[in-house]
Amino acid sequence: MIRFDNSYARLPKGFFARVSPTPVAEPRLLALNCELATRLGLSVAWLGSDAGVQILAGNQVPEGAEPLAQAYAGHQFGGFVPQLGDGRAVLLGEMIAPDGTRFDIQLKGSGQTPFSRRGDGRAWMGPVLREYIVSEFMAAMQVPTTRALAAVATGETVWREHGLPGAVLTRVAASHIRVGTFQYFAVRGQTEAVSALVDHVMSRHYPHANGPLSFLEQVVARQAETIAQWMALGFIHGVMNTDNMAVSGETIDYGPCAFMDNYHPDTVFSSIDQAGRYAWAQQPQIAVWNLAQLATCLIPLMGDRDAAIETATRAVHSFAPLYQAAWLRRFGEKLGLHDGNAAQPLIEELLTTMASQRADFTRVFAGLADGSARAEFVDPAPFDDWTGRWQALGPDIDVMRRANPARIPRNHRIEEVIAAAVADDLAPFERLFAAITHPCDHRDEWNDLADKPTPQQVVQHTYCGT
Ligand code: AMP
Ligand code: MG
Ligand code: MG
Repeated sequence: MIRFDNSYARLPKGFFARVSPTPVAEPRLLALNCELATRLGLSVAWLGSDAGVQILAGNQVPEGAEPLAQAYAGHQFGGFVPQLGDGRAVLLGEMIAPDGTRFDIQLKGSGQTPFSRRGDGRAWMGPVLREYIVSEFMAAMQVPTTRALAAVATGETVWREHGLPGAVLTRVAASHIRVGTFQYFAVRGQTEAVSALVDHVMSRHYPHANGPLSFLEQVVARQAETIAQWMALGFIHGVMNTDNMAVSGETIDYGPCAFMDNYHPDTVFSSIDQAGRYAWAQQPQIAVWNLAQLATCLIPLMGDRDAAIETATRAVHSFAPLYQAAWLRRFGEKLGLHDGNAAQPLIEELLTTMASQRADFTRVFAGLADGSARAEFVDPAPFDDWTGRWQALGPDIDVMRRANPARIPRNHRIEEVIAAAVADDLAPFERLFAAITHPCDHRDEWNDLADKPTPQQVVQHTYCGT
């Protein structure tokens, strides 16, 4: 049983289309996140039973659900698309967890909706398992993120370049409201709808905000924290379109995302990001660009236009100092240093040395605590010199161990897991999942998962591949 309380479904008609998930042929549970289910107050036994799996597959709509597809717009790679919306997802509804927090439960890959345009409304197993693993790793590292509750195989073929096994992801989020949700109404001149959306989002995510300006300031602050965490993990989202930026501050829409192996700030994986718009080092700037789009939507609610433009601009620009502080704190912790300002030159110098030698991002930071980082450098001389000055500041090993994961979901491992799952072997998925949800624990049985890819294993590109 899920006890629903669907506040989004109470918003005016234009916010969504009521639509049920499309049933699938032969649902089969691939993964169930027991830890998350328990936290949400959901019975693991029930979710994993035949009745539960029918719901997770979209074959049965649970009692109390009011399934709908949300409307939104968005800038995709800088170009505005006035209508996107949930083209292959339905929001089943919202529930209140035992700790009082409200969550959306969404099925992704659940069939066509009025927003599908030319898409089939489906997902294949690859991106479903990829999102499951990466989002749960992010959660394990305390990065604000949507969560993966379950993955179900549909028993149906999804056609991309060739036939692939279909799957549905059950995604849990504080909400699925995006910058693009605001843009959808703002571009249509529907100021009242924008205002209703601000009220809705304030009550869900920003109870201390008292109007559009303070709402904007708080979204900016949360995004600054989230993006700094991405940077500190070498995470590249890959499609930071405004429709893929949640106003709750959670990381959302794991598509062609990836973690860097060898460090270089210009790293890009997404096959469609040829200009590097969403490269690792671009992410804070792109966040500001996206937040400026949100600000633009809110200006009509902020009274005198010239004054509103000025205050909204100032709010967007508050990202820079907040991000800088968060970045220093996060990277300071990676070096075990509490004083970010003293750490700054050392952080920058280490990153420069790593970039020039293409050293492995995760292994260098994880190896600082046990002395193994040195081996990651082809020429250790600059690192040795740096180490002396860093050690003099008295780094705190415990802080470093918590900030630097020993294992990340590396691209080549994710691909191995997907290939095995397609061949009906879920053991590699389960092993990787266990290892990356305990990312800072050292266990010999997981040592190989910390290895970097061999030249043959290196993944050059990731695909939206949906
Ligand atoms: P994304 O690039 O995954 O963030 O998706 C961008 C837009 O395309 C969203 O409106 C999605 O709902 C829609 N979309 C992506 N894949 C599909 C699909 N297979 N069928 C229908 N709509 C899709
Ligand atoms: Mg999206
Ligand atoms: Mg997507």
